[in-house]
Amino acid sequence: MMTTEPSGLSPRNTTRGRPRTTGTDVCARCGRNTGKARVSWPEGKVCGPCFTVATRTYGSCPGCNQHRLLPGPPSDRGGPRCAECAGIPHDFRCTRCRTETESYRRGTCARCALRDDLTVMLLAHPADPAAMGRLVDVLCQAERPESIITWKRSPKVQVLLASLSAGSTPLTHEGLDQHIETAGRAVDHLRAILVHHGLLPYRDPYLARFETWIEDKLHPLPPEIARPVEHFAKWHHLKRIRSTVTPDSPARGPVHSAKQEITETIKFLGWLWDTHQRTAATCVQQDVDEWRASGPTTRKLIRTFFVFARNTRLNVSVDVGHYTARTRPTLAQDQRLAWLRELLSGSSESLPYRVAGILLLLYAQPLVRVAALRTDAIAIDPATGQAAINFGGRPVPVPAPFAKLLLDHIKTRPNLRTGVSESPWLFPGTHAGHHLHPNTITHRLGSLGIQLTGARNRSLDDLVTQMPPPLVADALGYSYQVAFKHTDSAGENWARYASLKRQP
Ligand SMILES: [Zn+2]
Ligand SMILES: [Zn+2]
Ligand SMILES: [Zn+2]
Repeated sequence: MMTTEPSGLSPRNTTRGRPRTTGTDVCARCGRNTGKARVSWPEGKVCGPCFTVATRTYGSCPGCNQHRLLPGPPSDRGGPRCAECAGIPHDFRCTRCRTETESYRRGTCARCALRDDLTVMLLAHPADPAAMGRLVDVLCQAERPESIITWKRSPKVQVLLASLSAGSTPLTHEGLDQHIETAGRAVDHLRAILVHHGLLPYRDPYLARFETWIEDKLHPLPPEIARPVEHFAKWHHLKRIRSTVTPDSPARGPVHSAKQEITETIKFLGWLWDTHQRTAATCVQQDVDEWRASGPTTRKLIRTFFVFARNTRLNVSVDVGHYTARTRPTLAQDQRLAWLRELLSGSSESLPYRVAGILLLLYAQPLVRVAALRTDAIAIDPATGQAAINFGGRPVPVPAPFAKLLLDHIKTRPNLRTGVSESPWLFPGTHAGHHLHPNTITHRLGSLGIQLTGARNRSLDDLVTQMPPPLVADALGYSYQVAFKHTDSAGENWARYASLKRQP
């Protein structure tokens, strides 16, 4: 049950969200009913919360101009006053250090109580008395000693502190690292205090984790991959990040991009070894070109590795600085096939964009036309289950693995609103009644790294090598002129086509 007090009747009683006990005492400061007043001062009874505020208020007393604790109520001349000026008959000084503050334990302040506790824990039989003395000092300098008192109650912290005192854990970053598994946040807290007070040098947390990350990455790799990657990771990235990191310029961003470059380099070198049995040293330009053109754009991140390889004379034959598009961009056939494989089986994009990309790569369809395709352009033969697609001429067959993907896509098309009759578009847009904008598809496929113009030119080249241009043009809705132009650039003799068997 929550408070039964109706809000609005007594606004002061509703300022705090928890129910209050009603008693006979009324606090002279806040006017609340309080079960039992905390103290009785000249102004009257004072409740617990008001007492706490009073014993944590410091400033210049308007009565005596001294800077000290101001537990008294405000005077005519301004703010709250000190105990003496307010006539409060209580000495707020700690019996040990004479600081005016709340009493924490039997007349001593929290700071003195903390020092007592830490002296027992750390200075009874310390392996290094001077180091432990400094540790006690910095812990006792905490702004709120109460928070350290709470922190050190944790059994994990007690194990950590005992181990530091006994000398089995050195008071270094590496020493603290040994306890991360068992007392992660407690270790972080202690480390931050020690760094703040200069007992430990600044160490960037991202950089520290990065060093472990590198070791973990290298561990499972065969030596022919691990060795160049290790040089790259340590001599290029670690060295560079170490030299630039300060508390004001943390390593987070640089570590993130370094990890990406190292990961991509490992992927590339793994592929290079598996596919061509070549290493970073024996890698040729073609390998890099093939790899970068046949996968996601993240593959471009291997560039830094080859700059490093060139600078360290590990490999001077690969030049990653010159990737200019050819005058008429085309995708190599194996790149096109790699992309088709990726889109057919991979997960680099969601189904609609994979389908759109395949239409581009298989049928050389401009994305403007792909975006505007209607579902009735796809026909399925109920007898054979074979699918065909009509781009505006005669239907062309859909090869088996893609047919399944295409049908899955038709069934699960996004942006279909319930209650509205089924969208006629193969790629329905977010606005009801519209298809997806071609630019949206261009952007999504382009960001994967597919060179769209190149992909289309390549597809068209391949189609004309397999079907007579008029047939290609007819089936795909191209003008004869365009189809013949591609025949020329494919460098094929048209007369030979007549004898070639037609392939879908
Ligand atoms: Zn009060
Ligand atoms: Zn005063
Ligand atoms: Zn004290």
